[in-house]
Order: sequence, then C-alpha cells, then structure tokens
Amino acid sequence: MDNCVAFPVDQHLLEDVITQGKDYALTKGIIMRTREQPNSSEVISYAPHVLFPSPVPKHLFEQALAAQEDFNLLMYGVTQDQEFLETALKSAIQVDDFTRKLYEIYEKVHIKGNPAQPINFAMLRADYMFDTARGKETPAEEMKLRQIEINTIASSFAGLGSKLPELHRYNLRNIGESEKAASLPENKAVDGLAKGLVEAWKLYGNEKAAMLFFIEDVSQNIFDQRILEYTIHEVNSSVTTLRRKFSDIVERAVTKDNKLFIDNIEIAVVYFRYGYMPHQYTSEKDWEARLMMEQSLAIKCPSIRFHLVGTKKVQQELSRPGAVERFQNYFPNPAESVQRIRDTFAGLYSFDMGEDGDTTVKRALAEPEKYVMKPQREGGGNNIFGKNITATLEKIGQDEKRAEYILMDRVQPAVIPNYQIRHNTSPELMDMVSELGVFGVIIGKGPNILYNNKAGHLLRTKSICHDDGGVAAGAAVLDSPYLV
Ligand code: ADP
Ligand code: MG
Repeated sequence: MDNCVAFPVDQHLLEDVITQGKDYALTKGIIMRTREQPNSSEVISYAPHVLFPSPVPKHLFEQALAAQEDFNLLMYGVTQDQEFLETALKSAIQVDDFTRKLYEIYEKVHIKGNPAQPINFAMLRADYMFDTARGKETPAEEMKLRQIEINTIASSFAGLGSKLPELHRYNLRNIGESEKAASLPENKAVDGLAKGLVEAWKLYGNEKAAMLFFIEDVSQNIFDQRILEYTIHEVNSSVTTLRRKFSDIVERAVTKDNKLFIDNIEIAVVYFRYGYMPHQYTSEKDWEARLMMEQSLAIKCPSIRFHLVGTKKVQQELSRPGAVERFQNYFPNPAESVQRIRDTFAGLYSFDMGEDGDTTVKRALAEPEKYVMKPQREGGGNNIFGKNITATLEKIGQDEKRAEYILMDRVQPAVIPNYQIRHNTSPELMDMVSELGVFGVIIGKGPNILYNNKAGHLLRTKSICHDDGGVAAGAAVLDSPYLV
C-alpha cells in the first residue's frame, strides 16, 4: 500500500513537524493525563498517536461502514433471543465466573423477573483488520476486511479519535503534502454517540433526570469522555451529566419506585465506561449495584443483554452456518445484510466439550501460529498467540476449562511504517499494523427498533512487536485513515 509520505523523513524536517504537531494536539484538546499521574489534570500531555495517517484500503473502509447498521440489528436480534444466548453461553458460564455473574443478572431481571425498563440500548464498536492474502506484496485491492470483535460496552476513543484527521491534516501541511489531506475522511464518531445518548435520554421521558457516566477509578483517558460529555450538551443543552465511580454507586445510589437516584438526582441513562473486567468488581456489593441498575427504570448503555452479546463466545456462535440468518427478520433486506455481515467473518471455532471442540484443539495444536485463542474478556492483553496456544492447551488437557476460550483465524494485517509519538518517549519509526473501528448506536423496545445508526470510525495502530492490546493497554496509538 502507498504511504502518504516517504519514510524516513529528513531529521530536521521531522523534528519540526513533531514539535508543531504536539502543540497542535495540546491546543486542540487531543490530550491525555499522564501514566505517572493518571488521576490528575494538573499534568497533561498529548495523546499517543502516529505522526501521519496510515493507509487504509478505501473499499474496505467503505465496506466496514456499510455493514455497521446490519451489525447493530444483528446484535440487537441476539439480545432478544433467549434460546440463542442460553445455548451459546452454556459451556462458557460453567467455567467462567465473570460471564456467569453477568448471565445471572440477565436471568434474574429479564427471564425470571419483570424488567422496569423495556428500552434496550447499546453503543457498539466493530473492530476490523485488513488481511493480506499474499503476504507483504498484497495490493490494497486484494486485501480482505476481517472483523476482530464487536465491543458492546465502554468502547472508547470516539472523542479523541474524531480529532485525529485535523491533526494529521496539519502534520501533512507542515511536511509539504497538503494535497494528501483530501484522502482523509471526516470523522463524526463523537457526534454520533452523543446523539445516540441524547436519543435514549429523551426516551426516558423526564427532562429533569440526568445522564450518569459510570466511570473508572483511574481516569487517564478522561478527556476522551469529556469531549463526548460536552458534545452531548451541544446536542441538547437540557441534559445534565454526572460522573460517578463504582464506590459512589454502591454507597449512595438507591431505587424508589424503580427509579434510580444518586445524590437525590434521578438517573435517565447509565453510560458504562467501567464494569467490563472481573477485577473491576471488588465485592458482592458491586455486583448487587450492577443488578440494582439493571432492574431499575434507568436506560442502560449497554443493557446487560448487550453486554453478554459482546462476548467472544457469541461472536463465534454467530459464525456458524445459519446463525446470522436466524435474525433475518430484523433486516429490511435480509439477503444483502446477511451477505455484508458474513463477508467480514474470519474463521471462528468452538472449544466446547465434544467432537466439535476436539477438532478445534487438533486444529490449534497442528498450526498454532495461524490462530488466536481468546477468553471471554475485554480490554486487551488477554489473548493467547502462537506457542502459548500449545502450552495452554496442553496444560488444560481434556478439562472442560477449555470452554472458557474460543479459537479464531489469525489475521495477517499489512505492515506499514510510521512514527509513534508518545509522551516522554523519543519518536521512533517503526513497523506497525492498524485496526479500524466503526461505531454504531442501536435503541429498541422489544422487537421494535427505534433508532439505528452508524457513528463514525476509529483507527488505532500498534507496533508489530505487540500481538495484542489497545490504546488503553499501552500498545496501540491513535491514528486516522489515509484512504488508498
Ligand atoms: P479485546 O476485547 O481484549 O480488545 P480483541 O479480540 O479485540 O480483544 O483482541 C485484542 C487485540 O488482539 C486486537 O486489538 C488485535 O490487535 C489482536 N487480535 C485479536 N484477534 C486477532 C486476530 N484474529 N488476528 C490478529 N490479531 C488479533
Ligand atoms: Mg478489542
């Protein structure tokens, strides 16, 4: 693929472009708190990014955007299908405590109980890589879009990511390549998410009720959330937003007549930016608080059903023949939607006990370098690659613990050089790979869809030294696509 600039860049010019780019990022709010003081706004830095936009095949970019509303509907359909969810997650919940705890809330509120709030809402981010069929020499037009996963909870970087094209345009100007800026698509991710959240807030039907950002204990990436918060206020100036941690909710949130209150403020929407990893639940009290929110009248982003639908296990089960078709009533044009969805799937395999799972074990042991083994986890750094797959499977043996995982074809993305710009780190020209995310918003009530939109994109790029890990995990940095 063609890069937008020639590498390496002359040293003097490079230093100049970097210095100017850092100032631009700081001036325009492309910022993050530092690793050293992650909870303080006294010291801030520019967010980690690549100096220039990375090439992305235009047809794959368009393909990913075109499939987003289909994926929104597909995932929505799964949330409504108790039988599918139960069958898909049956083995995983026997061996994975975290998924089981989530499932128990789902069961209690939505199967055995009578949920106070029928609105079902999520903001998704579908992540993709561009697979090179013929190795390094593969031309852009022969690359294939391959979905890595769909996130249904706490997908970040819509705020900062929306600002990357302007930073890259500025850097291209400074290197004398302004004309390349025409190939940088606009990114309206944060506007899309803000509109979705406001839409949900309106459906709650009480102008006085607030939107609650359920936040992390450590908020290094707070400005990404702030951009979203301020955009919400621009979309609708009547919305009040609050930020509260798990401990605040445990200590001070209550329900009265099913309405959720914290500090005497009624909550219309709970937007989860936390609560997606096991260690984030420090005691049974945290689980009780999650249950209380799910039972309440507040609209959750995501509902517990959407949280469960984001598991790797559901992704793998959806790749079985006929599984997507099961949800075709949700699509206005079923054949086309099913095709667009299927066209992005990589091979996915179940480790559930039985013949099917045994075949997966054999497949993985025969050529471990061709696969990724994934547990039911989010947030980066949990996947198993190459030789570690062999070691893990040998250790598990015939134990049913293997059902914690799924197996996926390993995508071989195009390797592209770029300069990585990170706080307190000298800029380095490195070989990198990119991952494209597409945001989507879906809101419905029972079988009826009320709102379905795609909402911009996110490009993250990481050094080939890292197999796994996103921006928050410290592996990837922010980027924006240069369409080729
Ligand atoms: P998480 O929920 O932790 O983000 P992902 O499925 O997104 O889990 O995997 C994390 C990272 O691992 C991805 O960002 C990507 O870099 C790498 N990865 C995951 N699946 C694959 C795959 N099939 N091929 C190549 N790399 C992968
Ligand atoms: Mg991911």
